[in-house]
Amino acid sequence: MSELETALHNIVIANRILAHQGVVDAYGHVSIRHPLNPERFLLSRSRSPELVEERDIMEFTLDGKVVGDDRRPPYLERFIHGGLYEARPDVNAVVHSHAEETLPFGISDVPLKPVIHVASSMGPQIPVWDIAEKFGDNTNLLVVNQDQGRDLAKRLGEGRVALMRGHGFAAAGGTIQDVVRLSVYLPVNARVLTTAMQLGGRFKPLAPGEVESRGHFNPKAPESWGAWEYWARRAGVSHLLGEMP
Ligand SMILES: [Zn+2]
Repeated sequence: MSELETALHNIVIANRILAHQGVVDAYGHVSIRHPLNPERFLLSRSRSPELVEERDIMEFTLDGKVVGDDRRPPYLERFIHGGLYEARPDVNAVVHSHAEETLPFGISDVPLKPVIHVASSMGPQIPVWDIAEKFGDNTNLLVVNQDQGRDLAKRLGEGRVALMRGHGFAAAGGTIQDVVRLSVYLPVNARVLTTAMQLGGRFKPLAPGEVESRGHFNPKAPESWGAWEYWARRAGVSHLLGEMP
């Protein structure tokens, strides 16, 4: 399989996994930086993730313009992806989700912290991006232009995830497997933390040293591939998986 074919398969797999795991519903999206041209990215036409197929994938420049004369309607919020790819050369895949479990941490002063080992890759601090800070309180909360995408990327900084106030989150990864895994476990982490706080006592987040010692994600490690394969199979797209690395 060529690099481009692999990327197209992986983007379909990622859409289906995120839908099957309840990270995205009718809305939400996932993209990959173009494997042959880092100034472009691949993203589905405007379609619910559970329904995305290979032929739905469109190509965009980092400022969110459609490449070629593809007239299919794109996602309004494609600027999230372009903004992050432009700001972060190390990022090769991006997820945007409205996962309900994360929303309380974007509208309150309680920070979302890593509390379970599988979510350690979110990093020790999760910034909250409030669109109203720069764009006023008359927006529709969606990231619909390049300025807004760039502002979100600025708030993300060198991190992995930014919460979007009253809206959802944007997550970035070096590989699509990495960002999908993070996006699956981020809402789980948020749910565990919410439950712990409801118990009424104090909670203990992962220490920065624990986050650090869990290390960086290696998509070729057997445990990483195992999760990707398992989720893909459960989502009904195992036929798109390539060879085990
Ligand atoms: Zn959104």
